[in-house]
Amino acid sequence: MTTAAEALARLREGNRRFVDGVRSLSALLTQTQRAALATEQRPFAIVLGCSDSRVPAELIFDQGLGDLFVIRVAGNIVAPSQVGSVEFAADRFGTPLVVVLGHTQCGAVQATLEEVRSRSSRSPNLRSIVDRIRPSVETLLATSLGNDDGRLLRAAVRANVRASADHLRHGSALLEQLIQGGKLTVVGAEYSLETGEVEFFDGMP
Ligand SMILES: [Zn+2]
Repeated sequence: MTTAAEALARLREGNRRFVDGVRSLSALLTQTQRAALATEQRPFAIVLGCSDSRVPAELIFDQGLGDLFVIRVAGNIVAPSQVGSVEFAADRFGTPLVVVLGHTQCGAVQATLEEVRSRSSRSPNLRSIVDRIRPSVETLLATSLGNDDGRLLRAAVRANVRASADHLRHGSALLEQLIQGGKLTVVGAEYSLETGEVEFFDGMP
């Protein structure tokens, strides 16, 4: 059984390969395992990331079929269906690590900043995402960061990752039980669109 620390190390190594522009042979040949994986899966990490087209988890961590259980939603927010998806994978497969993955220049966080400032909303569906990000943003807007858009967005992306990770840690009795039993760790990370690097900054084992 993989531990959270081992899973984290695999992700760090995979991201290092991605940044260096190389791919592991096993990830490249991953299609050859398709038949073997048809009847079972043992993903070593769960990734809750943003839907942004530039942040596909399998590519930036250089992993193949069956390696990652990925949930993607604009702004890497946590609503009941995301909690349920994490519960499913952690409980069913014994996956020891959850990574909440935000990224620089996140459009969903940017849209939230704009909506909070203009007090208008274009769609109730979009609003359901913005409302999940809003508390992180509003806290920061009240500080001196409110005068510096670049710094504000960077801080808001990280605050939003921390909020999602905390929600997963405390918003589910099932997950809380796994965490207390040492079977699950939730960490927060940020992917840089500019460098390709993932920085893990919250809740490391
Ligand atoms: Zn995004």
